[in-house]
Amino acid sequence: MMPGIFTQQQQSPNLGEANMAHLMALSQQGNPTLSHGALIEQATSQAAMQEMAQNQNIEVPKVNFYPSRHPDPRKARKQDIKQAYRLLRPTKRHFLNPWRLFFQRKYRYAKDTGTCVVDGCDCAELIKIENLYAKICDEDTGKSLWEMYWQNPITEEPEAFVARENVTSGRKLRGTYCPEHLHLYHLLVKWEKEQEKMDEANPRRLRDRVKQGVSMVTVPVASVVKKDPTPPMLEKYEPFFAQLQKDANKTDGITIIHHANQLTGLNDVTMVVFDLRIFQHELEMSNTPTAAFQALMEQQMNANTQLQQPSPGDE
Ligand SMILES: [Zn+2]
Repeated sequence: MMPGIFTQQQQSPNLGEANMAHLMALSQQGNPTLSHGALIEQATSQAAMQEMAQNQNIEVPKVNFYPSRHPDPRKARKQDIKQAYRLLRPTKRHFLNPWRLFFQRKYRYAKDTGTCVVDGCDCAELIKIENLYAKICDEDTGKSLWEMYWQNPITEEPEAFVARENVTSGRKLRGTYCPEHLHLYHLLVKWEKEQEKMDEANPRRLRDRVKQGVSMVTVPVASVVKKDPTPPMLEKYEPFFAQLQKDANKTDGITIIHHANQLTGLNDVTMVVFDLRIFQHELEMSNTPTAAFQALMEQQMNANTQLQQPSPGDE
């Protein structure tokens, strides 16, 4: 746990109570992805939830998210992410609680998808009074939480957002997030994306990963799935084929023909052609002297015959 966050939270307990100048100042420091607009949204939702709680007598606990003011924007974002995770984790029952002990019901508010898993706020009831989800929008896309998380993307029917055991991963629970928690969840997802982008661009991080033995070679999925189709029995021919491949570069007498299957793309038939005629022709060509050499040979032959010719006269 970060002691820094703790003390900050105690100093400034709630964004809903912060004024505009304060929010503006906060947006200028720390996490660069947490902009002024996002802060206002978070503050407004915090304030709106409180107001509704007072007016409607619905129990709405405060979400105490308070942005990190770390001077290093990367560290600030990291702290914000950590804090968001801590605030969004579903509330567990005490480990001695009989529900948890005997019925494996670890989470306190995992009874239906209309209830916030963190604070047990009755979101279904909340929507009936005022749909705060529709009022909180992403400042970049302009889409509301309602559109992004509470609608079936195909049918566009309202459908509760389902919270997960480890916030962004893990088993799905029977529970959701109230507008305030959902907004924080939305910000968390955005920060994590941003963080991922930064990590990938950071060469030092790359080196760390190589040190950890993580292969940085991107392997296309298809080649991972497809195993080497060569049957083990044929493995002993590998050197033979290597030799063939080498010699095929030197002579036209060796041809390796692959017949690929059009459907699978695999080599179904491999044929090796040794063409004796080409071998012989190539051999002949290499033995045949060049024209200049032939002329020289001819001269030599003539000289020999001239030398030999007088000899009969000597007899
Ligand atoms: Zn909540």
